[in-house]
Amino acid sequence: MSSLVSEKLPDAQGHFGPYGGRYVPETLMHPLQELEDEYHRAQKDPEFQREFEYYLREFCGRPTPLYFAERLTRELGGAKIYLKREDLLHTGAHKINNCIGQILLARRMGKSRIIAETGAGQHGVATATVAAMFGFKCVIYMGAVDCERQALNVYRMKMLGSEVVPVKAGQQTLKEAINEAMRDWVTNVRTTHYILGTVYGAHPYPVMVRNFQRVIGDEARRQILEKEERLPDLLVACVGGGSNAMGLFYPFLNDASVKMIGVEAGGEGIVPNKHAARFQGGSLGVLQGTRSYLLQDEYGQIQLTHSVSAGLDYAAVGPEHAWLRDQKRVEYTYATDEQALEAFMKLGRLEGIIPALESAHAIAEVIQRAPKLAKDKFIIVNLSGRGDKDVAQVAAKVGLRMPL
Ligand SMILES: *Cc1c(COP(=O)(O)O)cnc(C)c1O
Repeated sequence: MSSLVSEKLPDAQGHFGPYGGRYVPETLMHPLQELEDEYHRAQKDPEFQREFEYYLREFCGRPTPLYFAERLTRELGGAKIYLKREDLLHTGAHKINNCIGQILLARRMGKSRIIAETGAGQHGVATATVAAMFGFKCVIYMGAVDCERQALNVYRMKMLGSEVVPVKAGQQTLKEAINEAMRDWVTNVRTTHYILGTVYGAHPYPVMVRNFQRVIGDEARRQILEKEERLPDLLVACVGGGSNAMGLFYPFLNDASVKMIGVEAGGEGIVPNKHAARFQGGSLGVLQGTRSYLLQDEYGQIQLTHSVSAGLDYAAVGPEHAWLRDQKRVEYTYATDEQALEAFMKLGRLEGIIPALESAHAIAEVIQRAPKLAKDKFIIVNLSGRGDKDVAQVAAKVGLRMPL
């Protein structure tokens, strides 16, 4: 097991076993190398680490609590459930951790302009926030369909001074937004840094984003040892690209007693085009800079995906997750739209916490698992974000109308 977290992973070319790497047009090879070199220098620079920690604490509100969900635990009647409260961070999700790290890198590299892709708009808002705070010009690419679904976040980005470009190609969601961001980057690479939002894309993004997000697991580990004086039995997190899950899991990978479950979007069920569970029917392929599991047809065409949560609605998964799955270190399962909606309502009513629909997928798995575990076991579930962005969509789904 110890080889999993060895300094050798990923290797120098960014491979996690057969996954990862750098599959980009020639013009991006040099900028990615420049980014990797600067990132390695920054990692060894105590001043960079100090600044990173300073903004996480003073601006974002870290450390986030590890909260004992007493009523949910009692209702389910099994293992003790702890929530890692990333929903309490500034801008409402874990995405800001990575954005702080990358904006500090962009400043070190002397860039003046930031671009990013966004699905639900959470990464777009986090990026627009750090761009405003450090005085960068900022352009966010977002699928036109997602702009409609997540209008609140479009307004937030604009109010923060960013330009939002609705992308009208293809399915008009995240995949097309990433294509446009890559196109922009190729054209403007001298002045521009691309803040990619998850543990995906060409090397060094998967390893860099994981390392910026590992603060979640490092904190959770300290907190649980303080509260329970031993390590947890189970970690649960939802998996879109996979950054909140990698952030929680990574610091525990060498602890064989800690089981881990990643929860993908089961959408309307495991039928082609109706879900985004890459480990249920996905296969090895290359998409948007890296090699990993993806949902494709027999000709290698990317399949349509569906999830009630825009943040999990993507055809590929981060390469390190594919590796961890092969090693059988992490188990991957899925929750359907319906299960996620049920979990969304349940957490609100039992704990007074409205989760993001993405995080509700992780809660749905806890609802399945906790009753099967003894009362002296405990679970940490990553509450990756809050549900404000989702209330209008859920209200429509469950038939709440105004005036009430
Ligand atoms: C973006 C997002 C996710 C999915 O992204 P990961 O990289 O898999 O973490 C999950 N939860 C929330 C709240 C998000 O905003």
